[in-house]
Amino acid sequence: MKVLVIGAGLGGLTLAQGLRRAGIEVAVYERDGALGRPQGVSLHLDDRGITALRGCLPSAQAAMIEATMGGLREQTLSLSEVDGRLAVVAAQPSSARPGRQTHRPLLRAVLLTGLEDAVRFGAEFTRFERQPDGTVRAWFADGSTDTADVLVGADGIGSAVRRQYLPQAQVVDSGRRMLMGATALHLAPELPDLISDNPAVVRMRDTKMVLGALRFASPPAVARQRFLPALRHSAAAVEDYLMWALPGPADDLPPALQRIVDEAWPEMTSTLRIGLIPPIPAWPASPVTALGDAVHLAPGFGGNLAMQDAHRLCAALIEADRGQFHLLDVIGAYEETMRNSVQVKASA
Ligand SMILES: Cc1cc2nc3c(=O)[nH]c(=O)nc-3n(C[C@H](O)[C@H](O)[C@H](O)COP(=O)(O)OP(=O)(O)OC[C@H]3O[C@@H](n4cnc5c(N)ncnc54)[C@H](O)[C@@H]3O)c2cc1C
Repeated sequence: MKVLVIGAGLGGLTLAQGLRRAGIEVAVYERDGALGRPQGVSLHLDDRGITALRGCLPSAQAAMIEATMGGLREQTLSLSEVDGRLAVVAAQPSSARPGRQTHRPLLRAVLLTGLEDAVRFGAEFTRFERQPDGTVRAWFADGSTDTADVLVGADGIGSAVRRQYLPQAQVVDSGRRMLMGATALHLAPELPDLISDNPAVVRMRDTKMVLGALRFASPPAVARQRFLPALRHSAAAVEDYLMWALPGPADDLPPALQRIVDEAWPEMTSTLRIGLIPPIPAWPASPVTALGDAVHLAPGFGGNLAMQDAHRLCAALIEADRGQFHLLDVIGAYEETMRNSVQVKASA
């Protein structure tokens, strides 16, 4: 069996790692160049993401990620100004599943390690065509093509695979915008003691700001030496930091918060639009399928769902490859589970 994966994001790379580990031929096509663009700062990895990574990655890659995660995040803190200083004024159980922070560029670099010969960068997928022999042919912007038994759209929110395959699915702009960034932890020395590893919502004057510290359990450079020397050296060159998000206007920040924003790493600062994909009615299975943000958006845990999809789809394709079940049956079963778990989460 040969599988084409469109998109070298979290889901596409997790799938490619799992397929390669099972000895299935896989080719990944990524629109961005090898260095890519910033794809976020840190990611709250819960049991779904961890299980998927353990299930799909070689043990060295999985160990590298687990060794460098932050501490357990179980509750969300509320912070405000008390007697001129920031203080915790409330704590409640987190609405997210318990998990740990991971540094997103590091996670992606680890996911790419070992797949260098399988990923083609600068390759923008444009369309596919199902062939009479049951295979699928994919076209790219430079005119090149590739053909395989299965085509997987793992190409994120703007998915070109979804646009052609499931045109009834629409991305809706939620209207929410967010400024996000990361600032070296030593520039806000009082905060780690205050919030530990938990996410915190600061409310001061008319400002709301979300904060979280990532203190690597093991420094990435040390973990790289121990677990994954093949990892790109620069991917492990990062110090502990404070991740922050401003969901509202940032015109008149109190000085303590203004400093965090002013000192942020420019390459990690970006403005985001939050979109939604309303649930898509079931569709018949075919050799074209999709995972992650290409078919569902779940603000705050979409990365975990993308990796969970990848793990499930990988298991399904292995069954088909071994002749245990028919290809379209396993793809249909994967898609039904994926649709159901997204709808349960969306209404939870
Ligand atoms: C600020 C922010 C914070 C978040 N925090 C969390 C969190 O804490 N926990 C969590 O679980 N989730 C989080 N998410 C959500 C998470 O980032 C996404 O759900 C996740 O990245 C989806 O993975 P994916 O593989 O489906 O898509 P992506 O990771 O978006 O990957 C898609 C890839 O496809 C490529 N591509 C696109 N079009 C084409 C094309 N035509 N041809 C070839 N390649 C193409 C893109 O360049 C990209 O590399 C957060 C998202 C944001 C924006």
